Amino acid sequence: MTPMDVDPNVLTPRMARILEARDMTAQERFFHLQLPGALAHRPGQFVMASIPGIGEAPISISCGPRHDGQLELLVRNAGSLTRAMHRLQAGDFMGIRGPFGSGFRLAEFEGRDIIFVAGGLGLAPLRSLIEPVLAEPRRFGRITLISGCRTPADEIYRERMQAWAGLPQARVVRLVNDTAHLPWDGEVGLVTAPIAELEIDVDNTLAVLCGPPVMYKFVIMELAARGLPNTQIFIDLERRMRCGIGKCGHCQINHVTCCREGPVFRFSELESLPEALT
Ligand SMILES: Cc1cc2nc3c(=O)[nH]c(=O)nc-3n(C[C@H](O)[C@H](O)[C@H](O)COP(=O)(O)OP(=O)(O)OC[C@H]3O[C@@H](n4cnc5c(N)ncnc54)[C@H](O)[C@@H]3O)c2cc1C
Repeated sequence: MTPMDVDPNVLTPRMARILEARDMTAQERFFHLQLPGALAHRPGQFVMASIPGIGEAPISISCGPRHDGQLELLVRNAGSLTRAMHRLQAGDFMGIRGPFGSGFRLAEFEGRDIIFVAGGLGLAPLRSLIEPVLAEPRRFGRITLISGCRTPADEIYRERMQAWAGLPQARVVRLVNDTAHLPWDGEVGLVTAPIAELEIDVDNTLAVLCGPPVMYKFVIMELAARGLPNTQIFIDLERRMRCGIGKCGHCQINHVTCCREGPVFRFSELESLPEALT
C-alpha cells in the first residue's frame, strides 16, 4: 500500500458520545462510549482516542466485540491528554479512530485451555478477549486468569473479576504486591507465583500476557519452565504510536510496525527482536 491508498476514514476521528464516565481507581477512569456507527473490532485491538485541540493517544478497547457502536475504554492519567480525558463527563464527546492492530483471532483459541496473565492496566485489553471466551464455555477449554496489581486500591475491574471467579469454567487468582494495610480478599505475591502450581496440558494450552515489560520476562521464564513453547505464548505490546496504520514509523521495531502487525504477537515472532520487550 502506498500513502495514497490510505482510507481517509481511518485518519478522521468519529465523535463518540460518553454514556458513562467514572473513576475506577485514583489513576484510571472508565468510559462507556457510543459511536455514531459500528466499530466492528476484534479482541486485542485498540483505537486512537482524542480530544480536539489537545491530542490523540492509542487506547485499548476494553470490551468484547459488539455490533451496536458502543465501546469501553479504561484510561490511566499519564500526561497532558489523558489528564484532560479524566475531566470528561457523561454527555461529553471523545474522538475515536480505528479499530487498529491485529488483535486476537478467537478461532485460534477454540478448544484450547487458556492462561491469561495480566499486570496492572494490562487487564483492560485482555478483558476484550476474556469476555467472549468466558461467554462460550463449550467452545474453549479451562480458563485461568491471573491478575496482579500493586495494592488493593490499584485493582481494576474488581466486580468483574469476582463475578468471573464464580464461573465453573474459570479459575481466577487475584494478587497484590502489598496489601498496604487495606482490606484484601485475594492473594499476596507476584503473578509468576501461581504458574508453578497450575495443572498445564502443554500440548493444548495457550498463554496470553499483558502488563509492564518487566513482567513479560519473568512470566515467560515461568511458562517455559512448565514446558510451554514460545509459539503458544501471546504478548500484547504497547509502543509509542501515532498513525495507527503503519505509516509514520513511531512504533517500528526493525521491520515490524507494532500498530499494524501488533500490538498482539506470538512470543516466537519477537525472539529475533530483543528490544521489543524493553
Ligand atoms: C497499543 C496501545 C494501547 C494502549 N492502551 C492503553 C489503555 O487501554 N489505557 C491507557 O491508559 N493507556 C493505554 N496506552 C498508553 C497511552 O497511549 C499513553 O498513556 C498515552 O499516550 C499518554 O498520553 P498523554 O498525552 O496523556 O501523555 P504524555 O504527556 O504524552 O506522556 C506522559 C507520560 O506517559 C508516557 N507515555 C506516552 N505515551 C506512552 C505510551 N504509548 N506508552 C507508555 N507510556 C507512554 C510518556 O513517556 C510520559 O512519561 C496504550 C498504548 C498503546 C501503544
